[in-house]
Amino acid sequence: MNKDKILIVEDELIAAESLSLDLNKLGYEVMGIVTSGEKAIEKTIATNPDVILMDIHLKGKMDGIHTAEKIMETFHIPIIYLTAYADVETIERAKATNPYGYLVKPYKLVDIRTTISMAIAKAEEDKKIKQSLEIEKKLNEIKTKTLARTSHDLRNPLTNILGYTELLKEYGEKIPEEKKEKYFNFIINSVTEMNDSLEELLLISKADEGKLKLYLEEFDLISFLQEIVEMYQNINENHHVKLITNAEGYLVFLDKTIFRHILNNLLSNAIKYSPQGGEIKVELKCNDCEIMLRVEDQGIGIPESYKDKLFTLFERADNVGSIKGNGLGLSIVKKAVELQNGIITVESKEGKGSKFVITIPQQQEE
Ligand code: ADP
Repeated sequence: MNKDKILIVEDELIAAESLSLDLNKLGYEVMGIVTSGEKAIEKTIATNPDVILMDIHLKGKMDGIHTAEKIMETFHIPIIYLTAYADVETIERAKATNPYGYLVKPYKLVDIRTTISMAIAKAEEDKKIKQSLEIEKKLNEIKTKTLARTSHDLRNPLTNILGYTELLKEYGEKIPEEKKEKYFNFIINSVTEMNDSLEELLLISKADEGKLKLYLEEFDLISFLQEIVEMYQNINENHHVKLITNAEGYLVFLDKTIFRHILNNLLSNAIKYSPQGGEIKVELKCNDCEIMLRVEDQGIGIPESYKDKLFTLFERADNVGSIKGNGLGLSIVKKAVELQNGIITVESKEGKGSKFVITIPQQQEE
């Protein structure tokens, strides 16, 4: 078992040595004895002790309380004050630093042991509370950000719908047929855009709550991919979307809707982030147990500095320029891949294109 590491900060050397011997006897590891506040800070950085025993009345520029305050600004190490006698004012100052205990000289072995183990237990408890508060804070930030972002994203299409509906209501009879058709298409596109955003957000929140279930079905992955690739080829004149595969037919047992989300996001990104056009390769390699799907483009690529934020909700790289997006797609792709026990990796160089690779088992369990 690892010994708990203790640092002694005490300027009376004989008292410090005797305390060190007691600590050794009790099975602790003494990381050192230091006699001033400055040295205490240095030694804390160097040895990262589990507990610091700090004499309240240190001589020098910083007394024990001041040193404790400084250490607590940066480290979460429990500090126990050592004291023989202290006046009321000193005790009040010491109390204000929320110490993990006091040991009154002359020390008794039993007191040393109980005070240190109580301090360690309380510090662990405090650490857990702090961690769960931080997680809660992060979640709240994400929720607020999501709400603000969604309201913002929905405002545009809603304004379009309202504007064109009002135009059609007021001047419907006077508007030429082909213009009317154009307005109706604007409305349909706006509703589709809103619907897609809401569906993706719903998917993310369900995944976050662990409520996203797989609805598995057997289907031929090759014809499914052919259908999607063909659709993207038909609506994009500047790009050559190509399917490459080592199989003719390949039956899988997967969630088709979720798989479609993955592919749609990767393909629409490949197309929109290669505004100059070029080849988009969708490559499928499959064997008896897993599928490897690669979506490769020759577009703007991903800056090195952004790569660790790539799958973070609402984050976008700064080389996107005026290319539209909301930073939702890849978060969904990652969640969807992980939900199917798969992994996603990316290879990309700014200005040279990107390659997203997902590997997932070909059979899932419900
Ligand atoms: P969106 O495309 O809506 O911004 P995504 O979550 O799909 O959101 O992608 C997040 C970010 O990752 C994008 O904003 C872009 O910076 C980067 N990215 C994703 N796919 C590509 C790609 N194929 N090429 C270059 N950058 C990409």
